[in-house]
Order: sequence, then structure tokens, then C-alpha cells
Amino acid sequence: MAAEKLRCKECGSEYPLEALYVCERCFGPLEVAYAARGAGDVAALRRRIQAGPGDLWRYADFLPLAGGPPGPSNHLASRAGLPAGWTPLISADRLAERLGLRELWVKNDAANPTHSFKDRVVAVASARARELGFSALACASTGNLGNAVAAQAAALGLPSYVFIPADLEEQKVLGTGIYGSNVVSVRGNYDDVNRLCTEVAGEHEDWAFVNINMRPYYSEGSKTVAFEIVEQLGWELPDRCIVPVASGSLFTKVHRGFAEWLELGLVSGRQPALNGAQAKGCAPVANAFAAGQDFCQPVKPNTIAKSLAIGNPADGPYVLDLARRTGGGVDAVSDSQIRAGIKLLAETTGIFTETAGGVSVAVLSELARRGEIGRDERVVLLITGDGLKTLDAVRGSFEAHEIDPTLAAFEAALGQAVR
Ligand SMILES: [Zn+2]
Repeated sequence: MAAEKLRCKECGSEYPLEALYVCERCFGPLEVAYAARGAGDVAALRRRIQAGPGDLWRYADFLPLAGGPPGPSNHLASRAGLPAGWTPLISADRLAERLGLRELWVKNDAANPTHSFKDRVVAVASARARELGFSALACASTGNLGNAVAAQAAALGLPSYVFIPADLEEQKVLGTGIYGSNVVSVRGNYDDVNRLCTEVAGEHEDWAFVNINMRPYYSEGSKTVAFEIVEQLGWELPDRCIVPVASGSLFTKVHRGFAEWLELGLVSGRQPALNGAQAKGCAPVANAFAAGQDFCQPVKPNTIAKSLAIGNPADGPYVLDLARRTGGGVDAVSDSQIRAGIKLLAETTGIFTETAGGVSVAVLSELARRGEIGRDERVVLLITGDGLKTLDAVRGSFEAHEIDPTLAAFEAALGQAVR
């Protein structure tokens, strides 16, 4: 299934596989189009995937690289960069029981090299950037993407430029600068940062802005979440996925991943219902869904879920369409629900997620409470980042028992604790 061209999602105009992202005719977004592939030997294709490496390059057949995947069998081997993907899919029985669900799985993408799903998109974008001969990596980031770009650039021996809003969580800033990246802290929100980066990308043509001029390749990396879920469920589909929504790119690509494999016959059944999760403090897509609109009204973000704080989401209209067509939805939850969601996941699964994961858990809880999840459904909850990245959100959520170093003091404290 070789990548063949870039195609406009709106008008269908076609372009070569270069660093292009906007249609010249209608300003629509460009997406990678692949050569048609006949219904071949499904069993053989499955075996080929299963024999692949233990990272997202096992899905190289479905990713937009001209020269094949970086890896031991490729001349790019020594510049393969950080491997990403093939994260655990964990059965969450106790959380399911708490929410009254039959079958619940957590896809834990905090297990990636820089602890968020962004390592996937950066792995694909940077591999393609190398093929196209770029000399630096760059991005506009709400935090996690900056971590992933800085680390990947360090692994590849390339300079990097990471543009972030100035009010970002300290953990995410430190987790970028430590890799030797050039961190540019912009006085403004993410939408301001993104606008600035679009201008910078126009001036510095040898920089690969992974989520701007490399966006068509970058976003394809998100399909691998869907592929992994199918493979880890034993080549079966879930009935429903809960997906956090920032720009909406992950949501649309999870759909596309399932759709591509359904089309090829690699998996059978029906497209899973997709439920988008947003924070009430930045809910342009959830608002539009509730109002029955096809487009999003931009908002000024104000939420602890900063990695989802994109007030003008590029893929918003596509998310709305897919949420409706799959029988899903888009919901928003408050900051206190997000904090409760982080705690609930941690206490029932042993997974500590960042605020964006708290958004997903809280939306799942809401859907369960409203009875919108069928009794027999198999549900997958996407956890996209690690709790150590957003420690402020959970500060003060419990108290340690401070004691003198004596057994008596401990026993007294224990007595109080079980009171
Ligand atoms: Zn177009």
C-alpha cells in the first residue's frame, strides 16, 4: 500500500509527496493517499505484520515513507531514531466494574519514549523529513509534542526548535529543554504559537515543522494506535473508543486506521463508535456537537488540560462528522471532573495519567452514568500521556502521614489512618 500522492480532503486536488499541507485551490488540508491494494492474502499480511519490529514500524506498509521503514534491514538503520508505539493494551476490570461496564481496555500511550502518543506522529514525520532532506525539526506545541520533537531530534543528531505557550507546565518545559532543544516560549496561547510557526515555517524552508509543513505525514502516525488496538485484541475491533480531542487529528486518524483495515479485510465487523473528549474550558468541538453544528466556533482556552487547549481545532469539522456517523459523540468535562478522573484511573488500574487522560476517563464516566454505553460493549479508553507531566493538577489530592521515627508513632498513625 505505497503512498502515492497528497490529496486535498475538501476538493480532491492532488499534489506530489512533498512538504505541502494546504490545497492551493481551496485552502483545504492535504492528506496522504495510497495506491489501491487488492484484497490479497489476509493471513499472509497478518503474519508479515506480526513478524515486524516491536514498534510502530511493524505497520510500515500503511505509513507514508518512500524508502521503507528505518530499521536493521534498511540503509537508514543507524539513523532510525527513537522507536515509538506498540504500547500496552491493559484490561481494566476494576474500572469497568466501578462504571458498570462489561469490558474495558486502556491503551496506555504514556508508555512511549517521551511518555505521550506524540512520539508516534513525530517518528513518522521525522523519518519523512529525513527522506525529504530537511536539516532541522521544529513544532508548535502544547507540551507533549515539544518533548517528542526534542527527543527525536537528539536521537537523530538534528537541531530542533520547539515553540510553546509561555504558561506551560514546568514539567513539559524541562522535558523539552533537557534534550538540547531550542525552546521558544511565546507570550500567547497555543493558537498564537501556531500562527507564528506558520510564518516561521515560510521563512525557514529547511526546517521540518512536524505539525505544519509535515502535517500530512505526521498525522498518519496516529493511525498506528488503531492498528495496535486491533492486533492486541486478537484481530478484532472494539465497539467504542474514547479519544481526547485537541486539534482533532488523533480522532480522525484512529477512524482512518480502523477504516483502512476494514477495507482490506484485515479485520471484520463494523467501524467502532468514536467518542471525543474535551475539557469544558476549551470545548469548541463538544459545543458544536451539542448545538448540532457542522463547524466549530473558536474559543479562548482556560483549563488545566493544557495539552488539549486548542481553541481553533483544525480537524474539528471532521471530528463532528465522524462522531455522528459512527454513533459516538463529543463531550466536555469540568476541571474538577478531570482531577477525579485522574484519581479514579490511578486507583483502579495503576496508571497515572496527565490531565488529558483525566478528560478521557471523566467523559467515559459521564457516558456510563448516562447509560450511553451498551451492556455488551467492548470499550477502549485512550490514555495519551503520563501524569508526571502535569503534577500541579494533583497537588493536594492526598496527605502523607508524617511521623517520628518510632514504632509507637507509626502504630498511632496507622490507627488513625484506618479509623
Ligand atoms: Zn482543495
